Amino acid sequence: MSARDGSSSSANTYHDSRPICHHCPCILQVSGTDKNPGRKFYCCRYWKDSNAKCKFFVWVDEYKPKVWKESEDELKNKLIEMDESCRVARMEAERRKKAKNLLLEELISTKEDHARMETELRNLRNMFAVLDSRIKM
Ligand SMILES: [Zn+2]
Repeated sequence: MSARDGSSSSANTYHDSRPICHHCPCILQVSGTDKNPGRKFYCCRYWKDSNAKCKFFVWVDEYKPKVWKESEDELKNKLIEMDESCRVARMEAERRKKAKNLLLEELISTKEDHARMETELRNLRNMFAVLDSRIKM
């Protein structure tokens, strides 16, 4: 038997949508029989425990998780919904991009204004300095 003991294997060896029995998800095992060599199956994590008396067993390739049972229409509707939210998200991203560009333009013109005002201020200071020195003369 090549199957590993489920209690010692890490969580990532489990399938995400594996079946549940005994309140907790089943363990994934690999068959070592001549008839089904290497075929994966789920079974109760207490399969070794004779007190549990649980003989839950299902081949992975025959197991259909609940999500797969959803009707095609439901999936189509979900797809439409996702398309719609994608479209809305794209529009929102476009809107934010435009708003950002506007802010950038505003920032640039504010910086230009600031530079102009500093130049003016410098000129005024120079003028005052000249006036000051004339008054003292
Ligand atoms: Zn069980």
